[in-house]
Amino acid sequence: MNGTTPRPEVELIGRATQQRTTVLRALIATDGFVSAQVLHARLISDEERVGLSTIYRTLTALAEAGRADVVRDPGGERQFRYRPGADHRHYLICRQCGLSLPVDSAPVETWADQVGEEADFADVVHTVELTGTCATCRAEAREHT
Ligand SMILES: [Zn+2]
Ligand SMILES: [Zn+2]
Repeated sequence: MNGTTPRPEVELIGRATQQRTTVLRALIATDGFVSAQVLHARLISDEERVGLSTIYRTLTALAEAGRADVVRDPGGERQFRYRPGADHRHYLICRQCGLSLPVDSAPVETWADQVGEEADFADVVHTVELTGTCATCRAEAREHT
């Protein structure tokens, strides 16, 4: 796996160790959401020595630093996706195939800000998960009945 070292981003979650850098780089190289387990398997096949618990801790820290979006798959396992900017995004996730589409969440952001302000809360964060069945999976289901 090549590419430049995203050092400033790694430093958001602490010291820029080689392992953290490797995990962040692998996450950036991933298109869509990925679990710690899948990332671990991929790094092993690239002969990178990073333990699963290090991957899990790094991904969680990235999410807390606002550099990864997190959703839970139907089995309850957390899936991570690199977030390039400070603004978070919301996704529509297909429960069958895992397809993830970014959605326009401006109304949700406005609503969350308002609710927080009205109740005089600071540092309000929210999690919104939208899951369903994508058009491709619905078409496939029809073919098989
Ligand atoms: Zn699907
Ligand atoms: Zn939001």
